[in-house]
Amino acid sequence: MKTSQMLIPTLREDPGEAEVVSHRLMLRAGMIRKTAAGIYTYLPLGLRVIRKIERIVREEMNRAGAQEVLMPIASPAELWRETGRWDFYGKELFRFKDRHERDFCLGPTHEEVITDLVRREVRSYRQLPLNCYQIQTKFRDEIRPRFGLMRGREFIMKDAYSFDRDEEGAKRSYQSMYDAYHRIFTRCGLTFRAVEADSGLIGGSSSHEFMVLADTGEESVVYTDDGAYAANVERAELPPPIDTPLEHARPLNKVATAGVGTVEEVAAYLKVEPHRIVKTLIYKAAKELVAILIRGDHTANEVKIKKVLGVMDLELADANTVMKSTGAPIGFAGPIGLQHVRVVADYAVKALSNFVVGANEVDIHYLDANWNRDFAVEQFADLRNAQAGDAAPRGTGTLKVAKGIEVGHVFMLGTKYSRSMNATFLDPQGQEQFAVMGCYGIGIGRTAASSIEQNHDAKGILWPVPIAPFHVHLLPLSQSAHVTQAAQSLYDSLTQAGVEVLWDDRDERAGVKFNDADLIGAPYHLVIGEKGLAQGTVELKERKTGEVKRIPPDVIPATISALIRDRA
Ligand code: ATP
Ligand code: MG
Repeated sequence: MKTSQMLIPTLREDPGEAEVVSHRLMLRAGMIRKTAAGIYTYLPLGLRVIRKIERIVREEMNRAGAQEVLMPIASPAELWRETGRWDFYGKELFRFKDRHERDFCLGPTHEEVITDLVRREVRSYRQLPLNCYQIQTKFRDEIRPRFGLMRGREFIMKDAYSFDRDEEGAKRSYQSMYDAYHRIFTRCGLTFRAVEADSGLIGGSSSHEFMVLADTGEESVVYTDDGAYAANVERAELPPPIDTPLEHARPLNKVATAGVGTVEEVAAYLKVEPHRIVKTLIYKAAKELVAILIRGDHTANEVKIKKVLGVMDLELADANTVMKSTGAPIGFAGPIGLQHVRVVADYAVKALSNFVVGANEVDIHYLDANWNRDFAVEQFADLRNAQAGDAAPRGTGTLKVAKGIEVGHVFMLGTKYSRSMNATFLDPQGQEQFAVMGCYGIGIGRTAASSIEQNHDAKGILWPVPIAPFHVHLLPLSQSAHVTQAAQSLYDSLTQAGVEVLWDDRDERAGVKFNDADLIGAPYHLVIGEKGLAQGTVELKERKTGEVKRIPPDVIPATISALIRDRA
């Protein structure tokens, strides 16, 4: 295709709104443009990458025996009420009413819709197993849409749903999706790891996330060096403390801590170790306030907190609410004397005695607080993130932490949805059984963005061949008839050989063309100039390595076809 005929609005400057490199480069390379927060238009180059990833996903899903369907984006509230998710999904669900005032939502995921289909169409065990997938736009009203396609409010997802006769069959379906995901992300050229994951809202018994390793990842992965354990920190379970006797309790002591609020400040001021301080985090959990107690050197895990409290909507209370409920500003909340607020503490707090807590008064803390004497804890539970140095949950070793981007997720659902929606089939004995389900998602746009996080340099993107918007960027250095004719003939022969070529036919300076080509990141650049042609060659440059070869034009198609075949 010719650049002059395509909408490729490249940007010389870094757009201010982009915090991560993939977002920045997608905007600069003219691949996407923002329409609203978390809602994007895919421009021609961006869409080509999306379509390539979709093709790989389709091929591997088909190979794994899944069948493609397309469900509606809008679904009626009744289905969601059957599973309880109309209420449970909270604000993330985009809801609307039709002209008859009937409730609908825009699908964030499709367990309800597919289960409704299967309960109506599948009668007999002979129709199982069944695995249906779709590639479709999803809607989630994320609290913090950001990083471009990484976390949108509207985004493209591949979602698949398997239905089996029994647990054994469901495990086979799960394994075949797990294997397909390995093939998909390998073909996309990503460095990734499958980790044990939390099954979150969708619920179920077992799940893995496919994490692209990148420092800009929003997820933290814990792992042991021997590879025996890898999990999302959200998931990594931390056991209750071993029952060692607590220290002798010293008398409770109020101290002035003027001007210090954070754990570090309080620790320095009172000369105590951060692990001797207990933070009191006031959360809004659905409609009530809960005080969560976490050791000073630990961080709260909101996924675990949600699960323990059994809520979907969880938010740290704002300054006003903290003031009203504790009588003091953020930084001074504490569990002693707290009224009308449930107190739930992390397991690590249970092993502590004589610790520091806020006193619900400005500039005051308590020294030598003891949970078994000074305040009531309703429940101790696992509420914090695993961190480097924690003992690995199973077996030996200590945990390390890395950052990752979740690009795919496979879940074993069991009969959660088939039971609540009554999706049954008749087994060979004529008995009604619930179908055993699994569900499997891949973020298509997030996969594209993740690839850029892993494949870029200071000048721009370095697309792997299988998902590059074009294989070759054809760069004539002049508009002379001679050069144009050589470009046309290369364009024709490459295209005929099945190579995808972007031909920069604009009347621009070489520097401008080179900058754009580096930014856009096609794996191969072909530079055609008078000088080279006079010597019977054109320049073939590999974008990633910068390696340049001078090659006669007539062998270019064969050379490039071979390179692409090797890297596909
Ligand atoms: P996250 O924890 O990042 O919010 P999730 O667990 O909610 O993800 P799933 O429900 O498992 O995500 O969705 C399947 C896949 O869809 C994810 O693995 C991810 O690749 C993609 N995805 C989820 N939410 C978004 C989003 N807001 N924008 C882009 N892709 C998304
Ligand atoms: Mg999510």
